[in-house]
Amino acid sequence: MIMVSACLAGLNTRYDGADCLDSRVAALVSSGEAIAICPEQLGGLATPRSPVELRRKYDQNTKASDVYVIGADGKDYTSALIKGAEETLKLAVKLKIRKAVFKDGSPSCGVKYIWCAGNKISGRGITTELLQKNNIEIITIDSI
Ligand code: SF4
Repeated sequence: MIMVSACLAGLNTRYDGADCLDSRVAALVSSGEAIAICPEQLGGLATPRSPVELRRKYDQNTKASDVYVIGADGKDYTSALIKGAEETLKLAVKLKIRKAVFKDGSPSCGVKYIWCAGNKISGRGITTELLQKNNIEIITIDSI
């Protein structure tokens, strides 16, 4: 069993209520080889919802930087995305998931890049980072 981003499987989980259907991912779910999850919905966010982006704040004194999540509506969504990542990990552990196919570019599911202030930058989403830290391999649809 592998895990896939729900929007890739054709579920309307995106912030705008749309999907990002990839027929190969949908086929994996239909055949029972994959389970579809949306970390942002697992974090308690509604659909449709405000689009969100990862940002980094830098403390001049401690020289430490922290990631936070800001919505287009100006609200802070950091705790929702962290909760979504933790719930996703919980499910992955229960199902003994070792591999996931995630939607690139997302602040939760991004693998190689994310969007920041309208720009595509190298980086990974909060859920991807947590799963990788727990030795789960994350790939994009480019590697199916
Ligand atoms: Fe798709 Fe992940 Fe965004 Fe949910 S959080 S809509 S699964 S990219």
